Amino acid sequence: MARRPTRLTDRLSSAPLSFDQLSAAASEAQPLDAEDQALIEAACAALRRHYRPFWHTVAAALRSRDGRIWTGLHLGAIVGRLQVCAEPVALGRAILEGDGSIATLVAVRHPKPEELGEDIAVVSPCGACRELIVDHCPDAMVIVPTDAGPAKVAIQALLPLPYRR
Ligand SMILES: [Zn+2]
Repeated sequence: MARRPTRLTDRLSSAPLSFDQLSAAASEAQPLDAEDQALIEAACAALRRHYRPFWHTVAAALRSRDGRIWTGLHLGAIVGRLQVCAEPVALGRAILEGDGSIATLVAVRHPKPEELGEDIAVVSPCGACRELIVDHCPDAMVIVPTDAGPAKVAIQALLPLPYRR
């Protein structure tokens, strides 16, 4: 009997990854400390201040090695592929105004209009942002959602085989 092909929607669940689903390297996920919680709050504060449906729905915050925090906002665009994620905006600020490093990074998204009662929540960086982070700061840590709540994993655990030419 033929197996049912995997439907695209099977892979597009917005449910957070469980620890079991994370790769072996990511099983070294670390619990968050007070600095990590402050980083999440910085991202949430930026999104609360600047949220505009469609135009700014995700914010990111990164802590550089010097301890400074840089935030960034997602930039919506009518031509969808021109949208810019929040992470590169934060990284650009860190490079221009700070030491350009990423010790820890987090992204948060605003609930969609139909998600009444939901709160701003931690989201994983998209694949393109994983590539960007690992290119610029291969030792960065990233806060991601898990079944057990947000946890911190190495960027190289999120992208073990990055694009190289
Ligand atoms: Zn992204």
